[in-house]
Amino acid sequence: MRLVKASKTSDLDVNGALHAICSTGRGRCWHCDRKLPAVEEAISAGWYVQRVDGQRVASIILVCPKCRRKRADSNRKQLLRNLSPSACDAVQ
Ligand SMILES: [Zn+2]
Repeated sequence: MRLVKASKTSDLDVNGALHAICSTGRGRCWHCDRKLPAVEEAISAGWYVQRVDGQRVASIILVCPKCRRKRADSNRKQLLRNLSPSACDAVQ
């Protein structure tokens, strides 16, 4: 198994990172602590790897398919709220 090569661009190789994390056997969802399954399963299920830029170092977090969907939903709601604040004040 090859290790992920550091890339010059900031693009993250999700599959490569999943492989690397799976090989450590310690991958868990950053949000719900769900254990990362075998790499083929993780990729087909939609596990996602996200780069988070910290103050000094960038770290990589794992997001399971469930939390990924949940986050996408809440981001969309947030966006809608920001786009149309008056909709929230509408009298029923
Ligand atoms: Zn999760």
